[in-house]
Amino acid sequence: MAADAHLQELVNVNGRGRCAITLDPKDRVPGQQAYQGVVPLNATYGAGQPNLADVLEHYMRQSEQLDTKLVLAADGKVAAGLLIQRLPAEGKGNLGDQDMDAAEQLEHFNRIATLASSLTGEELLQLDVETILRRLFWQEKILRFDAQAPRFACTCSRERVAGMIRGLGQEEAESILAERGEIDVSCDFCGQHYRFDAVDAAQVFMAPGDRPPATSTMQ
Ligand SMILES: [Zn+2]
Repeated sequence: MAADAHLQELVNVNGRGRCAITLDPKDRVPGQQAYQGVVPLNATYGAGQPNLADVLEHYMRQSEQLDTKLVLAADGKVAAGLLIQRLPAEGKGNLGDQDMDAAEQLEHFNRIATLASSLTGEELLQLDVETILRRLFWQEKILRFDAQAPRFACTCSRERVAGMIRGLGQEEAESILAERGEIDVSCDFCGQHYRFDAVDAAQVFMAPGDRPPATSTMQ
């Protein structure tokens, strides 16, 4: 595969590739499931080869009905992104100007989105947030909120993996142990490894009352 291969060539060779987006809010009410949206990769994204940003913009429009502009960039070490999103015009807590008509709102969004599109991948990777905002939107009125910077987090835990092993059944777990000496599960999202040797695995299948207090640490 060429180093500059497009998304389609990488993951959509047969034309049936899909992109799944999982929304897993932190403050979920008990019983509420994570929400998953799926977009086909072979939808029409205009001229040229679609990239991941096009696919996500398409998802936002279709599924969330929100006009979105995304600029994404990554090199071997860093991944960075800029997301511009048009907030719904109606609703409580909306910051938009309620008196502005739809055409006017769209015009504003288009102007901001066009400015955002002028940001190159290189700039996005090299410049800090302040500089990017100043360069792109120096003519706009910028309102800032004290928000926590985005950070990577994963909800996997040793307890969850234990539950998964329990789901496999004792027989299957023992056959893996016999073959490999341990059960090694790695999380597809964050790459964290969870290893269960024969003793750990035996504990997984004990009745809850027979298990010693959990001593494993959550990562
Ligand atoms: Zn994880």
